[in-house]
Amino acid sequence: MNLILLGAPGAGKGTQAEIICEKLSIPAISTGNIIREALKNGTEMGLKAKAYMDEGKLVPDDVVIGIIRERLSEDDCQNGFILDGFPRTIPQAEALDQMGIVIDRVISIEVPDDKIAARMAGRRVCLKCGASYHTEYKKPAKEGICNACGSELVQRKDDAPETVLERLHVYHEQTEPLKGYYEKAGKLRLVEGQEEVKDTTALTLAALND
Ligand code: ADP
Ligand code: ZN
Repeated sequence: MNLILLGAPGAGKGTQAEIICEKLSIPAISTGNIIREALKNGTEMGLKAKAYMDEGKLVPDDVVIGIIRERLSEDDCQNGFILDGFPRTIPQAEALDQMGIVIDRVISIEVPDDKIAARMAGRRVCLKCGASYHTEYKKPAKEGICNACGSELVQRKDDAPETVLERLHVYHEQTEPLKGYYEKAGKLRLVEGQEEVKDTTALTLAALND
């Protein structure tokens, strides 16, 4: 199954991607995590992306399209994958089509803007392994520490309130039109984001099969 998760920043698509990829035994691919990893390793691409990211803007299409082209050609993607955070613009979606990649389903996790800001304030991430947590909705076993690797959890720079507003603006302007794009293709399903992570997962899994 080739799957795309859409949704505003902080709607919980990363969390759902991590859960569903285990259930379906296919890789979850997060462009945000790949870019942050590149940045941590000080690669040229990472440094180029940093300025955009820190301001809550999108990294240029050619950069992210290149990342995805490479990643999807790897062996572990041949039986399916979940894209988390790609595509985010119409040209990115068109690039996937041009690569000959057939998407089976697009799930958009819907959360109203006023809830997003509150959620983002509690979001914490592990810079070492990329796992994400929430101070209320997805607590780590030990406060401030990553379950997966034991590193310290931090707030992402682009989760600062002013940057969140800009990211929401960018989402509505550039990413939300993708709903129409995939609706026309009959692939879109909307899922209302729930308070409990597991409830959103149940709705998402149901939407994969209808
Ligand atoms: P979130 O889904 O919470 O907004 P991500 O980790 O997916 O966070 O993305 C963080 C940042 O990485 C984005 O704000 C953007 O700058 C950059 N980015 C990630 N994916 C893309 C993409 N497909 N196109 C352009 N920029 C991207
Ligand atoms: Zn970790």
